[in-house]
Amino acid sequence: MILISACLLGKNCKYSGGNNKNPGLISLLKDKSVISVCPEELGGLPTPRLPAEISGGTGIDVIHGKAKVCFRDGTDVTRNFIKGAIETQKYIQFYPVKLAIMKEGSPSCGVNRIYDGSFKGISHSGSGVTTALLKDSGIKVISEETPLTGDILALIAESE
Ligand code: SF4
Repeated sequence: MILISACLLGKNCKYSGGNNKNPGLISLLKDKSVISVCPEELGGLPTPRLPAEISGGTGIDVIHGKAKVCFRDGTDVTRNFIKGAIETQKYIQFYPVKLAIMKEGSPSCGVNRIYDGSFKGISHSGSGVTTALLKDSGIKVISEETPLTGDILALIAESE
C-alpha cells in the first residue's frame, strides 16, 4: 500500500484551491492500493487557505516545538500542521504502507526542501511536518521529483 499527497492525484486541496496532478505518478500507481491524504485538510484547515511556511527550522523542529508554521498573514497554524501529521500517521499504523510519495516543497509534505518562512520564494533543505513524522516512524518517503531508481520501483512493485 502506498500513501500519497492527495493533490498529486488531482484533488483540489492545494492552498489555492487547485491541485498538483501528476499524470506520470497516476499511471505508475494505477493498479496499486493507495491512501490519498491531505495533511492540511486533516489538520482542520479550509481549502482554499492562505499559503503557509515553516519559520525557524524544519518539520522535525516543528514536531519538537522548536519552530512554527504560519500563514502569510502571520496567523500561527502550527497546531493544525501537527494535527494533520498525527492524523496521517494513523494511516500507517492501521495499513501496511510500504512507501509514501509526498509533494515536494510543501510545509506539510515536502521531502527534501521547504520554504524558509520569509514568503519570498526562498527554499532550503528539510522536510515538511507530516513527512518528518512519517520518516521518524520509519516509512520510506520520496517526492514526485525523486528519480525512480530500481529500489523504489521494487517497493512499488511489491505494494499491493
Ligand atoms: S498538504 Fe500536502 S496533500 Fe495537501 S495540498 Fe499541500 S502538498 Fe498537497
